[in-house]
Amino acid sequence: MLYANMGMRRESNNTPSSNSGSSKGDLEILTDRFEKLKLVNLALWTFIKEAHGITEEQLIERYKQVDMIDGSSDGKLKVGIKKCTKCGKTLNPKFEKCQYCGTIVSFGTIFEAI
Ligand SMILES: [Zn+2]
Repeated sequence: MLYANMGMRRESNNTPSSNSGSSKGDLEILTDRFEKLKLVNLALWTFIKEAHGITEEQLIERYKQVDMIDGSSDGKLKVGIKKCTKCGKTLNPKFEKCQYCGTIVSFGTIFEAI
């Protein structure tokens, strides 16, 4: 399998706590996954850079612009607490529907739902 060739393995459950039987601690598992995500992002960046001629400076400028989407230049994308437009109850960002009344929730960006 391709993932095995990259030193990766696909896990059926993405929650780190599901590996509680592992000899690795949760922090070490998350660190490993973070490092793999950096590699995947770097690989994607090389494709984008080559295909579109975008410079590292343009990437950094875009990063700063995206960082300001939530109104704070802090290296994080904070998702504010949203209320259901129909019933007014607090929404869980992990669900596409209000847990109380079933109203479909629309997010400003797909990344808010992560
Ligand atoms: Zn609702």
